[in-house]
Amino acid sequence: MIYETKSPEETQDLAETIIKKFPPYGQKKALVIALEGELGAGKTTFVQGFAGLLGIKSKIKSPTFTLMKSYKIPVSGNYEFLYHIDCYRLKNYKDLVPLGIKDILDNPKNIVLIEWAERVKEILPGKFIKIHIDHIDQTIRKITIF
Ligand code: ADP
Ligand code: MG
Repeated sequence: MIYETKSPEETQDLAETIIKKFPPYGQKKALVIALEGELGAGKTTFVQGFAGLLGIKSKIKSPTFTLMKSYKIPVSGNYEFLYHIDCYRLKNYKDLVPLGIKDILDNPKNIVLIEWAERVKEILPGKFIKIHIDHIDQTIRKITIF
């Protein structure tokens, strides 16, 4: 599916479209959303929309220096925690291992959104949602969902 958004808010609203298209049922592992696109494409903006949709009130910033942040999901439902990971500074997945990434990905109560996920493909599960964001101009983004 390909979408074109004309503002950060439209990119954030796509979170709802995606969660409706991929309703979680019977999954045995975490729901993983891999985000790809240049710096400033809108990956973090998308995560903000996603977190807002799940009722998370904290301000989401790119965890470029912390690598990973977790948020409790207040809306009771299939999921308990949202993990936001930014792999911009990583060469491969190995730096994520000490953070417990394997257990995080194994837990079906988790939603894991990963910026620059192409840098850690070795640890991505067999099935995940991939979102590629292309910067078209200052306010327009082409968003492809695989
Ligand atoms: P990334 O995490 O991919 O590096 P960010 O989400 O941090 O990117 O930054 C995207 C920037 O682009 C923000 O400043 C945002 O306001 C701006 N922007 C402008 N138009 C859009 C759009 N259509 N979708 C997403 N972000 C947009
Ligand atoms: Mg970012």
